Amino acid sequence: MSHFIDVILPLPLERFFAYSITPAEADYIQPGMRVAVPFGKSKIYTGIVDRVHQEEPVAYEVRDIEFIVDDTPIVTQDQLKLWRWIASYYVCSVGQVMRAALPKSLMLESETIVLKNEQSNHDEDELDDKEFLILEALENRNALKVQEVMDIVDRKSVLPLLRDMLDKNYILLKEEVYNTYKPKLEKYIYLHEHYRDEERLKNLLDDMTRAHQQRNAVMTLFMLKTGNKDVTKKALMERAQVTSSVIKALVDKEIFIEVEKAVDRVLDERMDGEDLYELNQDQAVAMTQIKASFEEDKVTLLHGVTSSGKTEIYVRLIKEILEKGKQALYLLPEIALTTQLIGRLKFFFKHQVLVFHSKYSLNERLEVWQHIIDAKEPYVIIGARSAVLLPFQNLRLIIVDEEHETSFKQQDPAPRYHARDTAIVLAKVKSARVLLGSATPSIESYYNATTGKYSLVELKRRFKNIKMPEINMIDLKVKHHKKRMKGHFSDTLIEHMHEAFADNKQVILFQNRRGFAPILECETCGNAPQCPNCDVSLTYHQYKNQLRCHYCGYHTYIPKECPTCSSTALDTKGFGTEQVEQEFMELFPDHKIARMDLDTTRGKNSYEKLIAKVDTGAVDCLVGTQMITKGLDFRNVDLVGVMNSDSMLNFPDFRSHERCFQLLTQVAGRAGRTENRGKVLIQTYNPDHMILQQVSTYDYSTFFREQLEDRYQFKYPPYHRLIRITFKHRDYNFTQESAQWFVNALNQIPHGVQVLGPEFPAVARIRNKYLTHVVVKIGKQHEVNKIKGYIVKVRRSFEAIKQYRSVRCNVDVDAY
Ligand code: ADP
Ligand code: ZN
Ligand code: ZN
Repeated sequence: MSHFIDVILPLPLERFFAYSITPAEADYIQPGMRVAVPFGKSKIYTGIVDRVHQEEPVAYEVRDIEFIVDDTPIVTQDQLKLWRWIASYYVCSVGQVMRAALPKSLMLESETIVLKNEQSNHDEDELDDKEFLILEALENRNALKVQEVMDIVDRKSVLPLLRDMLDKNYILLKEEVYNTYKPKLEKYIYLHEHYRDEERLKNLLDDMTRAHQQRNAVMTLFMLKTGNKDVTKKALMERAQVTSSVIKALVDKEIFIEVEKAVDRVLDERMDGEDLYELNQDQAVAMTQIKASFEEDKVTLLHGVTSSGKTEIYVRLIKEILEKGKQALYLLPEIALTTQLIGRLKFFFKHQVLVFHSKYSLNERLEVWQHIIDAKEPYVIIGARSAVLLPFQNLRLIIVDEEHETSFKQQDPAPRYHARDTAIVLAKVKSARVLLGSATPSIESYYNATTGKYSLVELKRRFKNIKMPEINMIDLKVKHHKKRMKGHFSDTLIEHMHEAFADNKQVILFQNRRGFAPILECETCGNAPQCPNCDVSLTYHQYKNQLRCHYCGYHTYIPKECPTCSSTALDTKGFGTEQVEQEFMELFPDHKIARMDLDTTRGKNSYEKLIAKVDTGAVDCLVGTQMITKGLDFRNVDLVGVMNSDSMLNFPDFRSHERCFQLLTQVAGRAGRTENRGKVLIQTYNPDHMILQQVSTYDYSTFFREQLEDRYQFKYPPYHRLIRITFKHRDYNFTQESAQWFVNALNQIPHGVQVLGPEFPAVARIRNKYLTHVVVKIGKQHEVNKIKGYIVKVRRSFEAIKQYRSVRCNVDVDAY
């Protein structure tokens, strides 16, 4: 009887490939283990075993595996289930899901190794210079890495050369597989057993009176040891103020023993957490309602105004889970923005907090993975989108905070999954509870709460009953007309800022654009520098003295004169955070400002440092992009100024009004969180815009009703599902033509749904590729899975057509 395994490969393949294994291997291998397998001509991949079986594949010749990597599964059965759901719902391959889920350090790397072909008997005269150099090097050494070959022949592309030499039988190529994970090692110092006897130690110290430093080191180690903790070499050197040569001398004399041990990168030290706060009346009621809803096994939406204490409720729910020895997942839109929250959770849960961080190194991520799957402690795992793909054990609770945030949806590459929606499926697989939380729920979730699919729990008042901030509009038309503007600041805003500063309060300024100005324009001919790779104008960055493309990263220096007409009269249009910062410094020379946007938060700890500056009062004002709107809890901010709300209102997208409502409500929520009522000033040319009216009166229900009506009328979610198919190619016409072929082919099928496009989006070229969209709108009366099946079928035909090979075709289910 032959044995086989189905292996998931990290490739966009529609099916799994089977490999043959021995009966002994069949006894040993479990689904979820890694195996190294050959694929194609000479590639070796790490794959995950999906299934062990005895069904011989008929369509292709089965190959053997190279080797088994693990002795226990590193992926759980439940994960495999979830991967399959994601692949089928979001129309991609399980391999693509696997690639998104596994930390890269779990995927073994393989590297091509060049060996001499001993069978070859060639004349030296046949060889050209490069071949000679390579073979000569192989005489001296048995194997060369491709990188080394590059160095020898001094050029970048050596693969054609190697392939040629392979054809001539001069060399052999081999894939070597290696592991990239490196444990973090730390050196520890122990006293030699001999001196653990008090008498001997005393004698030793007496003998050491002249070796002053060594004596000092021994004494310090003895002292540090009293807590019965292991002492690192680093700590000992620091405390005893000695160099490593002193320690080495003691090791040589066999007084000290040095041991190198792998240490944990991601867990805090074991410690008792602080007691939780008492819930107030409103919170306690909400808590009871949430639990009742959990009893009914329902997804629960917590709609609580900003600063109502939603986080305190999450903390309490998490505590109960940890006390039962189970795991909890806390999903956040962007992990970079969560410094404060991590601090809050670690305050209560210490070593039970695991963070899955996009800025973590691969090694750190792997350790988080291991801790979760080993489950030696109950953990709460905090993470952004991809944390939903971790190998949970005993997961009982998932909190999706700021559930309305669009960054929960992955755009590129596949799987284009929504972490909130995936979390709800994960919870089903795990029999866990789900709590969605937001001050501004998404239309979709709130709709589900009104239909009874979810239950709704509300917190309508701020903690301590502080009133919601007062929100006022400032009409920029009037202000400009009356000449009451200084740069981009109206007199009203300036006045209120002065008042806040006089009160020793802080101010937050929101402008949803980074850089100094989005456009640099020639006043004479109107020319504005464009990105050579994308259809957008370049943003003027004053600090870097550059023009930058926010789509592809292209940058160049600022021209002294117009490249078209040579005029030197260049002016900027629009404004970004840098300009607000500069104007602030001119208007308030005695006050300090910090700026928080993508440009100032690139480093690993830059975000933490900025927050600390605000927290400690080192700055009086914080200006930033949407980054500052989320989740920040500053005690001393009284005033929030929105520099210009109009660009957010005029975006050509069915969610733009929703997004604007959410952003403004969230940023307003940063004001007046701890004692006094806060104030918000919104500068706008459209003070009567219904969205601004709804924001300023905190009228979520009117906002919801009106948006829902629009969604119904124009066939958008939650009434219709959208699948967006994007086509990308270097040639404008070809992009459109190939998309049109797809639409025509799809419409050959009597699917009955609306297919729109192909249509070029507002920015139709990015990184030198044109893109065009086809949108499929699927109503409640249609069978979604059938329609997806049609799309997959047409995509398969599309990809089989030779001339369309160069066209990228991406399917995005529930596109944003
Ligand atoms: P939200 O998450 O709804 O915006 P938070 O949980 O951040 O609100 O609460 C706002 C502030 O009020 C925080 O500083 C928080 O520590 C405090 N707070 C909320 N509830 C309590 C409570 N029950 N006891 C003490 N402080 C609380
Ligand atoms: Zn010009
Ligand atoms: Zn660009």
